Amino acid sequence: MNRIRSECIEGYDTIATGPIRVPPAMTDVHNQAQRRRNMSAIRSKNTRPEMLIRRGLHARGFRYSLHHRKLPGHPDMVLKKHRAVIFVHGCFWHGHQCPLFRWPASRREFWTAKILRNRAVDARSVEDLRRAGWRILTIWECALKGKGKRELEDVLDRTDAWLRSGRGHMDIEGLS
Ligand code: ZN
Repeated sequence: MNRIRSECIEGYDTIATGPIRVPPAMTDVHNQAQRRRNMSAIRSKNTRPEMLIRRGLHARGFRYSLHHRKLPGHPDMVLKKHRAVIFVHGCFWHGHQCPLFRWPASRREFWTAKILRNRAVDARSVEDLRRAGWRILTIWECALKGKGKRELEDVLDRTDAWLRSGRGHMDIEGLS
């Protein structure tokens, strides 16, 4: 799956500096069926970054439940004892402003609408969770992948410290 995901992201030719900028039309590099497969791979649960975080936190003694359908935004991990939820976000799908995010070369209106909608859902989920008394950590894919990636132990240390701190919303992202 990793191979498919990186092929997909690297297949795009346009780098955007912000999620709202609309890329110029360019020749498509995938047919639509291929793209649908790639996109479903990107969106899926149990991604590699997510598995790394889950294993690492489990090894440090944290216990969690997964993919709560009843909570806003369906957090990837829920740590009830710490009143905390963790999202592990794919940078493409969630429109992160980082080097891993590139606009697809074709169907730009479709993708602009889709990614802006995802971002709106994310923002609303964070607000709803916060109102319900949850603390929220977002770990971005670029923290564990690409040129700016951190050591896994660094990401786990930060997550560990945040869980114990009782602090509110935090993001962990890549260094570039
Ligand atoms: Zn990112």
